[in-house]
Amino acid sequence: RAKAAGGNRYEVADAASDARVIARHSLTNGLPAALEKGEFFIEYQPLVSLEDGSVRGAEALVRWLHPVHGVLGPDQFIALAENTGLIVPLGRWVLTEAARQARAWREAGYDGAPLRVNVNLSPCQLRYPDLVADTVAVLDDAGLDPAALCLEVTENDLIGADEEALRPLRQLADLGVDIALDDFGTGYSNLAYLRRLPVSTLKLDRSFTLGMQRDPADPVDVKIVEGIVSLAHTLDLAVTVEGVETGSQAEHLRLLGCDTAQGWYYARPGPPDRLHQLALTDVASG
Ligand code: C2E
Ligand code: MG
Ligand code: MG
Ligand code: MG
Repeated sequence: RAKAAGGNRYEVADAASDARVIARHSLTNGLPAALEKGEFFIEYQPLVSLEDGSVRGAEALVRWLHPVHGVLGPDQFIALAENTGLIVPLGRWVLTEAARQARAWREAGYDGAPLRVNVNLSPCQLRYPDLVADTVAVLDDAGLDPAALCLEVTENDLIGADEEALRPLRQLADLGVDIALDDFGTGYSNLAYLRRLPVSTLKLDRSFTLGMQRDPADPVDVKIVEGIVSLAHTLDLAVTVEGVETGSQAEHLRLLGCDTAQGWYYARPGPPDRLHQLALTDVASG
């Protein structure tokens, strides 16, 4: 069929991929100036306790308000920032901003448990020699308790990491920073390997949560979630589920023993003030 469609087909495909290459180049070139001009901003998505429905904190998710293309999501520019090394200053900016925000939530004060903030770390940041020093400095400047910060690293970024490579994470964990394994279940972690990691939370990948959305729930996904929860709790790790979009999904995951949930069912990522509002209403309503 491709042949029958003739040369035009290829031309179109080539033009489209040229356009993509050009777009990638221009986005990449624009990154450093964007950071200087303050075009990045953060949306916060609540993390909710499945036990009592209270808001426990939020994940910081970076966006780029591009002067031409409008709001770009991280999937459109994080990889580019990683390729050019800009991820290190960008990641430091996200951390600084999120730590300041978490401190502000705490100061605004309400009767619930203090709000925490989760920040994603890219593999380049993990290899960056000043990660620990920078993080300590950011926490100091913000006056934020290390226990109010959770750093998320993906399971795949840690696969094959030796003791040397894990040392910065271990140092941060020793300081009281929580470490979460993001997108858990998509890599190849085994029990022995998990024990060696300085992590306190597994964030179950959205693909498993999706299985709970069907009615009846996908039996294989149910078994997998059950297995992961029991493994996690045996190792004293908390389980957070991402991508919860419906109430029945949330209820199912709660019954399976998951601890914390995140997803559109509770709230889409949004501005920082809204998180504080959600936390207040939640506490006010019981
Ligand atoms: P992630 O850390 O796994 O973040 C969760 C993603 O799922 C977010 O996408 C979030 O908006 C989306 N999401 C949340 N709830 C739902 C839901 O109920 N349904 C669906 N379909 N999606 C949901 P987002 O904001 O586009 O971020 C994508 C990825 O970009 C993140 O995945 C994370 O790996 C990366 N990222 C975001 N911010 C940063 C950052 O500051 N630094 C680094 N290095 N990576 C970041
Ligand atoms: Mg994450
Ligand atoms: Mg995730
Ligand atoms: Mg994910």
